[in-house]
Parts: sequence; C-alpha cells; structure tokens
Amino acid sequence: MNRPKILILGAGYGGLTTAVNLQKKIGSNVADITIVNKNSYHYESTWLHEASAGTLSPEKVRYDIQSVLNNKVNFVQAAVESIDATNKKVITDAGEMSYDYLVVGLGFEGETFGIEGLDKFAFGISDVNEARKLRDHINSQFAEWASQAPSEKDDTLLTIVVGGAGFTGIEFLGELANRIPELCKEYDAPQEKVRVICVEAAPTVLPMFSRELVEYAVGYLTKKGIEFSIGTPVVQATPEGVKIKKGEEEFEFIKAGTVVWAAGVRGSRIVEESDIPSKRARVAVDKDLRVPGFPEVFIVGDCAFLMNEEAGRPYPTTAQIAMQQAITVAENLIALIEGKDTKEFVPALKGTVCSLGDSDAIGEVFGKEITGKPASFMKKVIDNRALYMVGGAGLVLKKGKFNVL
Ligand code: FAD
Repeated sequence: MNRPKILILGAGYGGLTTAVNLQKKIGSNVADITIVNKNSYHYESTWLHEASAGTLSPEKVRYDIQSVLNNKVNFVQAAVESIDATNKKVITDAGEMSYDYLVVGLGFEGETFGIEGLDKFAFGISDVNEARKLRDHINSQFAEWASQAPSEKDDTLLTIVVGGAGFTGIEFLGELANRIPELCKEYDAPQEKVRVICVEAAPTVLPMFSRELVEYAVGYLTKKGIEFSIGTPVVQATPEGVKIKKGEEEFEFIKAGTVVWAAGVRGSRIVEESDIPSKRARVAVDKDLRVPGFPEVFIVGDCAFLMNEEAGRPYPTTAQIAMQQAITVAENLIALIEGKDTKEFVPALKGTVCSLGDSDAIGEVFGKEITGKPASFMKKVIDNRALYMVGGAGLVLKKGKFNVL
C-alpha cells in the first residue's frame, strides 16, 4: 500500500487527540491524514454546562481546529452523512471520501428514550449551538417576565426543570445556582420567584459517587435553592412544562418556562445507520479498538463500547477515556502501517470530579474522595490538562481556567 489514507471523522476529544498524536509520532510522507468535522472549531464538551447556564462564554469553550494541526494533517470542514465500511467510503456534504484506515469519533447525541415531547420542548446540552440556545432562552424568559405588568406576571417563566441528576445534570445545576442571582439582579426579579427543579427517575443522584459525596453535592445545591424530585420519571414534555410520575397512579404537572433534558446520551446516529454493527449507536470494539469484521476501522470516544471486565460493566463514556483511546488508536495506526502488531487499550482511570459551579465540586481522584475548593481546583487542573494534551501550553494560556479561588 502506497501512502495509506487515514480518515478521521469528528474533531472532538477522541478524533482530534488521534490527529494530534499521529502528527507527533508519524514520519513525514508516511500517510495521507485527513480529519473531517462539521464545524471549523473543536469544543470542550465537558464545559458545555457552563456555556448553557451563561457562566462561561461559548467563545471560551471552543477553538479553531486548524490552530492545533500541522502540515501532516489535512482538515476538511464537512458534515458526515453516512459511512459505507464495506466499500471503505464516507459520504459527506462536501463529497465522497475513501480511506484505507478509518477512525470514527463522531461523539454523542442526546437520548430521550422515546419520552413524549422531549425532543420538541426540551433543551439539550450536546454542542455549542444547543448551549447558546439554552442560555439565550433562559435570558429571554427572565426578560419576558420583567416586561409583564406587575399584576399579570407569570412566575412560571422563571421555573427551570432539569431532567437528570447524573453528571451533566448536576454540573449544569451547579452553574445555574451561581447564575440565577446574577439574572435576578439583571432583570429585577426577586429570587424567591425563581424555581429550579431537578427531576430524576432513578432512586439516587450521581450513582457513580459514594453516599457521602452525593450528600455533599445535594446539600450544597439545596442550600443554593435547587429543589430535587428523585425517583419521579418525566413521562411527558409539553410547551408548558413537564408531567412527572410520583406514584403508581399519581402524576404532577410542573409548569415551567424552561425544560432541560440532561438525562441520557447515545452514540452518533451516523454510526447507527452505517453497516457497522452497533447498539444504541455504540460499537462493541475489540481490545485494540478496532471493529470486529472491519480490521481497518477504529472507533474512539462515545461511539465505542468496551467492557471493563474487572468491574463487569462497560467503561463510562468520558472525555478522559476518549483521549486515552485516541493515543492507543494513533499508535495502532502507525503499527499497522509498519506491519507490526496492534496493542490493547488499557485505560488508566485517574478519577472523576463533578463541579458544583465555579468554586465547589466533589470528586474521587486516585482513590481519594475530595470536596470543596480542593475538588474545584482539581477540576480546573483536569480541564487545563485536556487543553494541554491537544494544543500544549499555548492553548492552555489562551483558553485555560486560572480563576482559582
Ligand atoms: P465529542 O467530544 O462530542 O466530539 C465529537 C465531534 O464530532 C464534535 O466535534 C462534533 O462536532 C463532530 N461531529 C458530530 N457529528 C458529526 C458529523 N455528522 N459530521 C462531522 N462532524 C461531526 N467527561 C469527562 O471525562 N469528564 C467530565 O467532567 C465530563 N463532563 C461533561 C459535562 C457535560 C455537560 C457533557 C455534555 C459531557 C461531559 N463529559 C465529561 C463527557 C464527555 O464530554 C464525552 O464523553 C466526550 O466529549 C466524548 O468525546 P468524543 O470524542 O467521543 O466526542
């Protein structure tokens, strides 16, 4: 094979880290490497809750893809429309592309589990555009309330329902808890008129953390005025709010100006609709991250499904794992080109930190539980490290978080 063509789909944590590692480790003129992404920019998905709440500018969350690539990697801005792995072809809105090796890193999409009305009436937190829409909608609800005559004020405009008390839901609530007082000041709204309600179907909040850490997080957010309705699934969303199930035959309708759905993600629809076998748009990959039956196709990030055999459950879909997988994928691509054996992906799980706004957090890092300012500091270290791994110190200086309190 002369100068094999490597095609990378998606410039998120998985795709872009694969490209950057390839350009670092592969010799010049060894392969034609192309990365395709629908936007000209990469965004830090793990910061989207901040952009959605309006506590961080969407500009801060994203950076130009080209700015972290050198001349070994060609960037094409295009939306991938379909993958034909049998014929080694990818269709994009900029035309057809062929490959010898394919890396699929198309990321995640919101999952509404078929709950009526959520796809139409709830806001998601899946990309920069959704984050901007949600932020603007919350602002507009406050503005609408402020413009109503005193006797006709509809306070439910100031009610925000957040579906999901997992990682994304709780991190978003943490940001909202800080943003609401600012909005109240800006729009002359008394804070007692604002309701933020977290609705969760499962019997617990943040199932990945210990009871002590969960109690800390719930206590912290409750003190800031967040209400929790746990074990009460959302069964319907309408333009007026959500219906939740509180018992066998008992339902409650919560009137709300804003409904946010942060209770589930799945892999990319493009993967699901391709000839690569998948379940909920995630592909069960071999240990070297290749697709069984398609030895030239690698899956990286949230579209990959890989069992943690020790724990007896799949590895979570996280940026941490996506970036680690990308390093292995880049090394395995080079190994295949050089006719060597690929290696197994071995994740190094360093821990997880869940922010509760800008100055508090909970986490488990290297087996140790942390809360408060040390946890918040650690979260910023993790955020800056992700920037460093892709764009080095220059990117950290440009986009990094240094507001350590
Ligand atoms: P992504 O980073 O989502 O990248 C996918 C890329 O593909 C994007 O650039 C997208 O534009 C592009 N794309 C998609 N479709 C197309 C198409 N059709 N054509 C072209 N391009 C396309 N993980 C952690 O480890 N720690 C955290 O603290 C954490 N916090 C989170 C907070 C929030 C609010 C959210 C939403 C997620 C969080 N996660 C966290 C999860 C983490 O963001 C994901 O696991 C991670 O982004 C997955 O990386 P990826 O490369 O698979 O996809």
